[in-house]
Amino acid sequence: MKAIDLSGKTALVLGVANQRSLAWAIAESLGEGGAQLAFTYQGERLQKNVHTLAAQFPEAPVMAMDVTSEEQVEGVFARVEREFGKLDILIHSIAFAPREALENEFIDTTLESWRIALEISAYSFIHLAKHAVPLMEDKGGSMLALTYMASQRVVPKYNVMGAAKAALEHGVRQLAGELGPRNIRVNAISAGPVPTLSARGISGFSNMSAHHREKAPLGRNIEAREVGDTALFLSSDLASGITGEIVYVDAGYNIMAL
Ligand code: NAD
Repeated sequence: MKAIDLSGKTALVLGVANQRSLAWAIAESLGEGGAQLAFTYQGERLQKNVHTLAAQFPEAPVMAMDVTSEEQVEGVFARVEREFGKLDILIHSIAFAPREALENEFIDTTLESWRIALEISAYSFIHLAKHAVPLMEDKGGSMLALTYMASQRVVPKYNVMGAAKAALEHGVRQLAGELGPRNIRVNAISAGPVPTLSARGISGFSNMSAHHREKAPLGRNIEAREVGDTALFLSSDLASGITGEIVYVDAGYNIMAL
């Protein structure tokens, strides 16, 4: 019988804020698959939450990392190298835009909001990939980002975050093209709405969620666990032929025209 087995693989999971985070659902699935996990958290505010959750995986290092701090980014990859000697799986589950950019009209987007949203939500994936590559070089690896369909279609109030997701998805394809010869696969999961901390910061999130539930072929919203399990598959050798893809985990919503 074929089963997903990540034993012997190491995974760095970025973006756990609390137990509702998609990154946490992914960590639980990768952990069940047997991966050795490492976590980062952004800022002291989240330190306790992430330490408490990560205690479920007693061997897992928990490290501070704001993606805008080069010192912290270098510190994290240096510790992963010291403790594991390699990295097999990188999970990027991070996004941020200033609140006013998600409340005002898109036409009012300031250069500063644009810069912040694209730096944290899209550029950071490229930058972290650069740090991860040397640790994956021997056997290859898997990198995974989290995106949303507003990269392709108009979702009112998603605003600059749609631009950031479009840039992120392009980054996934460009990196997949460049890193394929080193056997490093790069993919993204495009998730349907899940009520997380960040999601609740989007004006009209509950309407968005109700609309998805009503229109999706499966007639429901997705659960975070479904994102976790798809990440488990994409990170495993069973997905060895898949790279550069945006995999929709949205109960089928994206295929519907009416
Ligand atoms: P979340 O709030 O639980 O996670 C977002 C994470 O981003 C947090 O852990 C936060 O600390 C981190 N972050 C923000 N700025 C950072 C920085 N400067 N440095 C390091 N980390 C930073 O919310 P989530 O919904 O789990 O979001 C995870 C990913 O999933 C995001 O990319 C989001 O856009 C994407 N996504 C979410 C949904 C949804 O409906 N929840 C749908 C599609 C895609």
